[in-house]
Amino acid sequence: MTEAERSDAPMPLQSPEQVLTTLTKEGKRAWMFPRLSKGRFLSMRRVVAYLLIAIFGIIPYIKVGGKPFVLLDIVHRKFTIFFYTFLPTDTILLAMVIISFFVGIFLITAVFGRVWCGWACPQTVYMEFLYRPIERLVMGTKGKGGKPRNAGGGRFLLLYFLYFIASCYIAHVFIAYFVGVDALWQWVWGSPFKHPVAFLVMAAVTGLMMFDFAFFREQMCIIACPYGRFQSVLLDKNSLIVTYDPNRGEPRKQKGKKKVSLKVVEGEPEPQQKEGDCIDCKMCVTTCPTGIDIRNGLQLECISCTQCIDACDAVMEKIGKPRGLIRYSSRANIDGESQSFFRPRVIIYPFIILILLSVFVLFFISKQHAYVKELRQIGNPYSINEQGNIVNIKRFKLINRDDVAHIYTFKVLDEKDVKLILGEEPIKLEPGQATEVSLRLVMPINLFENGKHRCKIRISDDGAFSKVYTSRLLGPM
Ligand code: SF4
Ligand code: SF4
Repeated sequence: MTEAERSDAPMPLQSPEQVLTTLTKEGKRAWMFPRLSKGRFLSMRRVVAYLLIAIFGIIPYIKVGGKPFVLLDIVHRKFTIFFYTFLPTDTILLAMVIISFFVGIFLITAVFGRVWCGWACPQTVYMEFLYRPIERLVMGTKGKGGKPRNAGGGRFLLLYFLYFIASCYIAHVFIAYFVGVDALWQWVWGSPFKHPVAFLVMAAVTGLMMFDFAFFREQMCIIACPYGRFQSVLLDKNSLIVTYDPNRGEPRKQKGKKKVSLKVVEGEPEPQQKEGDCIDCKMCVTTCPTGIDIRNGLQLECISCTQCIDACDAVMEKIGKPRGLIRYSSRANIDGESQSFFRPRVIIYPFIILILLSVFVLFFISKQHAYVKELRQIGNPYSINEQGNIVNIKRFKLINRDDVAHIYTFKVLDEKDVKLILGEEPIKLEPGQATEVSLRLVMPINLFENGKHRCKIRISDDGAFSKVYTSRLLGPM
């Protein structure tokens, strides 16, 4: 293409304003290389983050009496949380726990803002305290924005190799929560040909981690995470947020701009040009992992990582001003209103949690050690055997909801003439195991009145469980 043709080529359509911090106006990816700001919050976050990385890795190994602390067995629909296993029949109990957890997050957000995002979310913890340190270590940093010093060659390969190792580790930890450490180690030491599905799952999760932490990065918080979207409704003006104090910072000191001489009115004191503490150094912007300017107010992209606090505190110390131009505060505080802790939502959320937990305790106490349900009859309602007796086939679903194995028995109560024949004996079920039991009930024809007869069947285990079922038997009219 000649120079003239190039000048005639249409310009890419530009957005009139910045839509996302991770997009240029032409719609290309704007890569973030936030500068690391050392300070008291970074030191505290480092301790919390590495502690959490250790805890995330250790949790799948915690077992008491062979029972894991956490195991989310999706395949068998059994979820063990705090050593308690929720079976598919415990939907209400599990729902209470999950809803309480989310209401708890709403409460924490209402009081402390997005403290979860900045301090404890695995996305932030791994991104800011594993992947970015690896990147800074291998590629180096230069300039204000902390951009890599050297972006090519062997360092690039080394960077992606280390990303791969980190992604493999996180993928293994992640999968351990769903399959347990025993199965995980079998997968690790076994040949991929022996466990092709497991190998593919592991490869896919490692690939997802690589995609997330090496490519997608902060966009997970800005675009994909639903929690950030809810922020505007979860926060109120008394919530603790990372915020810039415009009363103290504005008007910003303009670099290279001389003081404007203000008009002096005769007879009045000479006006003082007010200048805020913000020197517009943009250190708070170049350190922000989501690329926003906190001076524009609270934004959905802010994950409360406190890096801008550390950056600005260092600047304030240098220019001899007090720290805290950017600080943890609330909108009410910044606006000069009195801070109120007790607001409707801070009272309503704990109240809801209390109700949910009460329902949980109620269901938990009344929960039986086994679940029994009579299933629909299939085929003919009855048959007549060679001796002329009536035969009914009854089917029951039986689940052991206890923590130990049990042997179950079925017995007909108060009926000498009804004979119960079990298809399979003994019925032994491991904890959480479910089975379908078929019973043959054989009885003389004279028991039936208008083709119906009711009989009581007791289902019990070798422990404390016992339940009496009234079953409707059918025969000739
Ligand atoms: S770091 Fe502080 S002084 Fe510098 S631009 Fe940000 S708010 Fe202003
Ligand atoms: S504005 Fe400050 S607290 Fe918010 S994400 Fe950026 S650096 Fe972190």
